[in-house]
Amino acid sequence: MKKDPATRIQMLEQFGEFGGVNPSVTDSATYTFMQAKTMLETFTGEAEGCFLYSRHWNPSNKFLADAIAAMEDTEAAWVTASGMSAISNAIMGICKADDHIVSSVTTYGGTFALLNNYLPKFNIETTFVNITDLDAVEKAIRPNTKILYTESVTNPLLQISDIPRLAEIAKKHGIKLMVDNTFTPMIIEPAKLGADVVVYSLTKFVNGKNDCVAGAIAADAEFISSLIDVNDGTSMLLGPVLDPMRSSQILKNMHTLHIRMKQHSENASYLAAKLDELGLKVVYPGFDTHPGHELMSSMMNEKYGYGGMLTIDMETSERAAKLMECMEEKGAGYLAVSLGYFKTLFSNSGKSTSSEVPEETQKEMGMSEGLIRFSVGLDNEIENTFEMIKACLEELKFL
Ligand code: PLP
Repeated sequence: MKKDPATRIQMLEQFGEFGGVNPSVTDSATYTFMQAKTMLETFTGEAEGCFLYSRHWNPSNKFLADAIAAMEDTEAAWVTASGMSAISNAIMGICKADDHIVSSVTTYGGTFALLNNYLPKFNIETTFVNITDLDAVEKAIRPNTKILYTESVTNPLLQISDIPRLAEIAKKHGIKLMVDNTFTPMIIEPAKLGADVVVYSLTKFVNGKNDCVAGAIAADAEFISSLIDVNDGTSMLLGPVLDPMRSSQILKNMHTLHIRMKQHSENASYLAAKLDELGLKVVYPGFDTHPGHELMSSMMNEKYGYGGMLTIDMETSERAAKLMECMEEKGAGYLAVSLGYFKTLFSNSGKSTSSEVPEETQKEMGMSEGLIRFSVGLDNEIENTFEMIKACLEELKFL
């Protein structure tokens, strides 16, 4: 296998029926068999290359899963109807009642809510830690801990997880390291750095078009097979199947992901530097003053840059709201949740994608109520975007 994630995707030979250059789209929920015996063998997992029923596997989802596995350099992958179903299925595929999870306190708000509010229904408890404090991480591990959970670059504080060291800790304690790499596809390859399971919201950079919701789980073949076991596989039984029409679209978008990631990084790096020059409190992992900068540099594929995400701290949610409204009015981007889109998106994290995190916890983790998270787009003239933001800051007398 070639070293670069984009090259590994390009090396895949995926054709459609009749020699189509794009794989054919699966338009069937079920599949015929010539022999009853083969059907039974497919049920019991003994028949290779057969499709049984689309919730289990279908050719379109298999093509996309193969591309995800190629990108992550894992043995296998599975695609899901959302990032949250990827996360919940991967977690529930490992944990049973009375198990315990150690997680970064800074994660996407939905993940925090799953761990903090939902999984306790099944007696699965989570201890939240500052993921950059490795002593605290190790101390939080209990005999019943099954998962160490983090995001490569955390949402929204943009902390950098030390994946190699976290993998060492996980290995020492016989638990799985699960990493959400939604912010940094191609930039960081968590499985190569020691993660056991990599999860994605494909909704974001990987698809990049904001036209659908999807997710993926990349791991070894044994884990992926266990998820879709017809008798007790979490994904097979909870059924978060991705629509094959959507997966075929996402697969095509993956072929431009490497170009997009470079441009997102270049634009974010420019915008971060210019906003910093204005004296704003900017967080961007590409700054050498960012506490995780060296760590990220040591883990990343340099040519893809430091990613498309940055934050600025406007101190209060009122100031953040005024600035965001003005930026949208001037055309700098959209006031919207989500990320990884070709347009620049911004939102006030505490009042949106992290609103599930109690205010007290937000304060404890150092998340200002005025934090604006930017997902910097593929703006052709990022200089203009900056000028629009600057004009707002001047008009509002925020400089
Ligand atoms: N992981 C991260 C880092 C996210 O930002 C999000 C959504 O915002 C998710 C997972 C959940 O993904 P989805 O909305 O596709 O379910």
